[in-house]
Amino acid sequence: MSLSYGRQYLAIPGPSVIPDSVLQAMHRASPNIYEGELHDLTHSVIPDLKSVAMTDQNVAIYIGNGHAAWEAALANVLAPGDTVLVLATGLFGLGWADIAQGLGARAEIINFGAQAAIDLSQVEAALAADTEGRIKAVMAVHVDTSTSIKNDITGLRATMNRTGHQALLMADCIASLGCDRFEMDAWGVDVMVAGCQKGLMTPTGLSFVFFNEKADAAQTDNVSRYWNWRPRVKPEVFYQHFAGTPPTHHLYGLRAALDLIKAEGIDAVFARHAKIAQAVWAAIDVWGSAGPMALNVADPAQRSHAVTSVAMGSSIATDLREWTESKCGLTLGIGLGRDPAEDYFRIGHMGHLSGHMIMGALGTIDAGLKALNIPHGRGALDAASEVIATA
Ligand SMILES: *Cc1c(COP(=O)(O)O)cnc(C)c1O
Repeated sequence: MSLSYGRQYLAIPGPSVIPDSVLQAMHRASPNIYEGELHDLTHSVIPDLKSVAMTDQNVAIYIGNGHAAWEAALANVLAPGDTVLVLATGLFGLGWADIAQGLGARAEIINFGAQAAIDLSQVEAALAADTEGRIKAVMAVHVDTSTSIKNDITGLRATMNRTGHQALLMADCIASLGCDRFEMDAWGVDVMVAGCQKGLMTPTGLSFVFFNEKADAAQTDNVSRYWNWRPRVKPEVFYQHFAGTPPTHHLYGLRAALDLIKAEGIDAVFARHAKIAQAVWAAIDVWGSAGPMALNVADPAQRSHAVTSVAMGSSIATDLREWTESKCGLTLGIGLGRDPAEDYFRIGHMGHLSGHMIMGALGTIDAGLKALNIPHGRGALDAASEVIATA
């Protein structure tokens, strides 16, 4: 039999669960794009996006996914032949480096592997060795979704300051914005990229490049017209916000999502993600106490609050994922970018997520372990509920 009935639960690290209020806001007739409500609504999302990113600087909106924001950000500051320093802690750091290379830049990649955060002493050495100041930008992923590693962006800024290097600090917050605490201005980030389909709970299709004056001053002369962030932040006509037709329904959805974040309060949003992540870790620690399951990242300070990568040591990870989906309607994330991918799965716990939802997901995984006779410690749900009980 199957118990996969009722509402499906997509617990992957993006796209995330879409709130009903977002779906309902999008279920409407096409608005006038030349004047009126849509213009007011677009102007209203800009300060709210900045407040989620904790910045007073600029935000350009692009119609596209995270890859579009990656390319948009780099296309504004890199000319062919420029050098960037990429700090990789998983697939997404390497993916962003690939975009830089595609634009003709030289990517110097330091790969810290898939289980621990950026080692700042290695970054310091690389910057100190660059006596000619060739490195135009340091690119780091705040939360690498493939490994669930969270990097210390403030520490990275401090390291850059210590060396006196003038490179731009560019951060990918596509997985972390609205989940893990991030403060663009206080943390000294020059460029930050994000998407709408993870912590911002909106169907994939909008992405954002936040940038400060230093980054704008570093804009390359050969930026393409479509990616140029300037007309998007200071449009003479509404059309220039989007270099064409606006993403009408996505803007309504995003407005509703930002309303949810505003109503809850950003600090409460971060605290909720932290508590839910701790419940997930508590369960996995118990399961792993008598079986093959293990958290990918050992140090809790280096773990994301938005996603957890789990190692199973064999392709039973894939069997478990298939069981939870086919038998109970819970879709877990694949072992993206891992080798071998079948040996890992990920739990997305970002965005529109409550205590009962995560307890349901953990209970379903617990049932899957039993159904598939995968050895595991008993009492994981008890451990998770102890965490939730302290909310
Ligand atoms: C999801 C994600 C991306 C890519 O976003 P797409 O919308 O899939 O193009 C990039 N970086 C990080 C950290 C992500 O989580």
